[in-house]
Amino acid sequence: MGTVLRLLAAAIAIVALVVGAVAVAGWGMQTADRARAAATAPALAAGSSKVPAGDGWTAWGARSDGSPLRWDPCRTIAWVVRPDDPDWLVELADRALAQVGAAAGVDFTYVGRRDVGVGPAQRTADGPDWTPVVVTMTSPDEVDWLTDDDRALAVPVVVNGVFVTGQILLDRDADLATDFATRDGSWGATLLHEASHLVGLDHVEDPAQLLYPYPQPGPAALGDGDLRGLRALASDGSCLDPGPVADLGVETPSRR
Ligand SMILES: [Zn+2]
Repeated sequence: MGTVLRLLAAAIAIVALVVGAVAVAGWGMQTADRARAAATAPALAAGSSKVPAGDGWTAWGARSDGSPLRWDPCRTIAWVVRPDDPDWLVELADRALAQVGAAAGVDFTYVGRRDVGVGPAQRTADGPDWTPVVVTMTSPDEVDWLTDDDRALAVPVVVNGVFVTGQILLDRDADLATDFATRDGSWGATLLHEASHLVGLDHVEDPAQLLYPYPQPGPAALGDGDLRGLRALASDGSCLDPGPVADLGVETPSRR
């Protein structure tokens, strides 16, 4: 089973002086050609050209001071599912986001079911706040960012070097177990992988890591390198300010 990464890049609207970018990464069946093309994508994450990396991990991108792109550690990140999502998704995503968030120094909190837009229909502002992260089952018919070959995608939205919202899109047609039993055959492992993207890790060419682009056999657990990377994303505790909350309007990704 040749499963390869998908890593796409997108730009979202520039509103006032706020600059945003959307990064899209997926785990699924893909061609090596796509994987090679994807290797250039981290440059999309504006800021320093040197992407932080270490033993067994690579960040999505760098802030202008050279630190990794990350969330503001001073806010709690709300997340939702949509009304038709199964209960098991809430349970598995809660566990994955809690584990990944704890390692990366960010708090996620589930705030319920909401009928929200996904893909390019996601809003970035929700009243005075950044819109909650949405974790949801979807399909290539609904969101064409997801191809028939993807089991899932993570779409963190970056504004001025800070993640402000995002999406984890799961292909409802993928035949995976609703548990954390295996790395290559469970939604639990897929959610750990996508949650790690959401908080700021890119793929890494080390098959021992969960962030390896090809799902591997074995336990559905983060690897040593994954954990080092997540800890590296944790800031020194200083708050990060992306600027005023704004509805930036996520555009259709341009693939590269
Ligand atoms: Zn991935």
